[in-house]
Amino acid sequence: MLLETDTISQLDIAQIRSDFPILNEVVNGKQLVYFDNAATTQKPRQVLDALAGYYEHTNANIHRGIHHLAEKATAEFEASRRRIQKFMNARLPEEVIFTYGTTDGINLVAQTYGRAFLKEGDEIIISTMEHHSNIVPWQMLCEEKGCVLRIIPINDAGELLMDEYEKMLSEKTKFVSVVHVSNALGTINPVAQIIEKAHAVGAKVLIDGAQASSHIDIDVQALDCDFYAFSLHKLYGPTGVGVLYGKEEVLNAMPPWRGGGEMIKEVTFEKTTFNELPYKFEAGTPNIADVVASKTAVEYLEKLGKEAVADYENYLLEYATDALSSIEGLRIVGTAAEKISVISFFMDGIHHQDIGVLLDQQGIAIRTGHHCTQPLMQRFGIPGTSRASFAVYNTTEEIDRLVSGLLKVKKMLG
Ligand code: PMP
Repeated sequence: MLLETDTISQLDIAQIRSDFPILNEVVNGKQLVYFDNAATTQKPRQVLDALAGYYEHTNANIHRGIHHLAEKATAEFEASRRRIQKFMNARLPEEVIFTYGTTDGINLVAQTYGRAFLKEGDEIIISTMEHHSNIVPWQMLCEEKGCVLRIIPINDAGELLMDEYEKMLSEKTKFVSVVHVSNALGTINPVAQIIEKAHAVGAKVLIDGAQASSHIDIDVQALDCDFYAFSLHKLYGPTGVGVLYGKEEVLNAMPPWRGGGEMIKEVTFEKTTFNELPYKFEAGTPNIADVVASKTAVEYLEKLGKEAVADYENYLLEYATDALSSIEGLRIVGTAAEKISVISFFMDGIHHQDIGVLLDQQGIAIRTGHHCTQPLMQRFGIPGTSRASFAVYNTTEEIDRLVSGLLKVKKMLG
């Protein structure tokens, strides 16, 4: 079937859709429309095959065995690390630490770098639009060490007030941790500028790339960030795998976090010496199968071409913004000049949860609530929003279904 959108994009959207078996699911009698991609993307057949293939032909524990399967599993695991190194243009594979997700990576930095190098009175800067996973680990650290958390404000469009950020920076600033792309608003933040200004006062910088990594080219060397965290499940890959990039010298200076197997060089009851990077931060048996399949996810996205994917998603964003704006009483929250394909909105007099439930009855999956950004919702004076977020397999026909679904909701409850 040729879709209307096939003629717009250089990508073969119908072919791409056929790679994602879950899109054929029927929900409440209707073909699924999946617009909850900012929470997690669906997985292509290639990734599912890589997962099953690993368990069928490779499964063994890594790094410790000398038998065939152990060597094969280790080789596949390390090949994934090198592939992801290339994906984010890290200088060394040792700078790529496998974690369980973005949240895990940020906690690792707060609990190791933060506990070792930050002290009472030091300032940590985050922003109003952070996900809870880039707020709470820093609050916990501030509580323990007596550091001060400072918050970059935003304007009504959902853009950081960079003047205010610059005013906040001083010799007291020791760490800046900001989101590359907001999950609730879609705003793309000027992270290169944020990093440069932070480095000018000697602060280290972590970028939360959870939403950016599938939409924007990531080049950690060009950005010059000290840390960059993301999750593979938002990038067509499996759940349970994240990446924490860190500059080699910074990671080397940090103490380890979790103790156990793999992260040690030698253990006696008197003293333990620790392993080298990246293993120093990878205690215990990692999520081997999902790490291996993550390589396939990255390759899938890169084969489509990140630029072509971003162009197509921008087209969907424009189409949806126009279409949703035509609904009377619907207001979009997050209208930054630079944004990805996320639309948060609310409708006069209708609770976001009712919108979610009634759309689900029509087979349309969106997210409703505070999107793990309660302080951001407080900034806008709202309890939550409805959010539609688009991925490369979505179409304008599906957006049309969302619009008619919302018109139905309005008729029933408006
Ligand atoms: N930061 C942002 C901006 C996110 O969107 C998310 C996931 N919603 C996270 C952090 C946390 O990611 P994870 O749950 O994969 O650890």
